[in-house]
Amino acid sequence: MNYYSTNGKAPIANLQKAVVKGLAEDRGLYMPEEIYKLPKAFIDDMPKMAFQDIAYNVAQNFFGDDVDGDALQDIVYDTLQFDCPVVKVTDNIYALELFHGPTLAFKDVGARFMARLLGYFLRQGSSVGCCNTAINKTVNVLVATSGDTGSAVANGFLGVEGIHVYVLYPKGKVSPIQECQFTTLGKNITAIEVDGVFDDCQALVKSAFMDEELNQHMKLTSANSINVARFLPQAFYYFNAYARMKALGKADELVMCVPSGNFGNICSALFGHQMGLPIKRFIAANNANDIFYKYLQTGKYEPKASVQTLANAMDVGDPSNFARIINLYSDNRLLSEEETHQRITSLISGATYSDEQIRETMRKCYSETGYILDPHGACGFRALQESLKSGEVGVFCETAHPAKFKEKVDEILGIDIEIPARLRAFMEGQKQSVEMTKNFEDFKAYLMRV
Ligand SMILES: *Cc1c(COP(=O)(O)O)cnc(C)c1O
Repeated sequence: MNYYSTNGKAPIANLQKAVVKGLAEDRGLYMPEEIYKLPKAFIDDMPKMAFQDIAYNVAQNFFGDDVDGDALQDIVYDTLQFDCPVVKVTDNIYALELFHGPTLAFKDVGARFMARLLGYFLRQGSSVGCCNTAINKTVNVLVATSGDTGSAVANGFLGVEGIHVYVLYPKGKVSPIQECQFTTLGKNITAIEVDGVFDDCQALVKSAFMDEELNQHMKLTSANSINVARFLPQAFYYFNAYARMKALGKADELVMCVPSGNFGNICSALFGHQMGLPIKRFIAANNANDIFYKYLQTGKYEPKASVQTLANAMDVGDPSNFARIINLYSDNRLLSEEETHQRITSLISGATYSDEQIRETMRKCYSETGYILDPHGACGFRALQESLKSGEVGVFCETAHPAKFKEKVDEILGIDIEIPARLRAFMEGQKQSVEMTKNFEDFKAYLMRV
């Protein structure tokens, strides 16, 4: 499969290059040239199949041209060593729990899949057409995080031979639960504690990618959510959701609601829909960062600085994957802006909620159903409650385990939520980190020495 850039000014890339580079030369996002439809017989059979088998079929559709079948099966099975169940919350609303992976958030699947795919390319010893050099020395993954991404990437790449991960995070600005998930791992994971804010971390990573001397010295890549190997595997979740709902006899008019920030997760669901997944319509639920919501209402995309909310993993003011959604529904910009907007609004609607509405939704849902929502899932649940029509059944993504936001959830609901064993295990580990200023010269000097 070949991948083209959403900006249309970069050379076509193969899968290896798209994965290793992440972003195309023209700063656009890679898109597969074709999205194959899955056979109807497969869709009909899914309710009888296990999550891993469904996922393997979907993975073949995306990656089967480029990765040997047995290897791809290993990658999928090794990535999905946990389930993603649907849990009934009300008569017509179900939670799709995407938090049963190692760091209790949905990003685990994309991060693990990408780590294993990169590991596969390295083992093949294939020369990757990026940066004019073959992959023959350690690949260094740089990732800036405000919390959740760092833990998913660090755990996904832990122990993968030939890859070293540097997680840059703002000192004192991530929660203790988040911090221990990437500072206690050791091995091929180094946590860099930057004396600054998240934007300083991101600036250090960007400067590193642009620094010629540094790129001569070491092979650098990113594990950002725009990477095709990170976002596409999330489609597995939606096929599984349909299969489980179909088995319950509830899939005839399925509405899928995705709490969204950078729009990678919902984008993978839309790719699933293009592959023939029978979902009637989608809802993108936002917190107070309502750029996509406004686009749906007005047809105008006006990015702005993000505002901080209770659902902080969705605090994004310029969602990267918006470009992919536009590309998908404009047939690579063949259609006009109006036609594209019309196609998008006929399939996707939006919602936006304040912190006060998130709190109120968490309390009401807990008292009426006993289900504990995390602040991100709360946006999804409420959007379904406000929009489902008679005959429709809604599924919303619970994108993180509520215990990941223990301080907030306890305070809002007046409970003492139990921390799952997996999370406690991280908290017992020894913190190791490298202190760093926000000055690029210091960071560069450090990398030049390793
Ligand atoms: C990353 C994240 C989101 C947003 O997902 P996108 O793919 O960026 O839209 C929502 N909830 C949680 C818990 C997350 O970590």
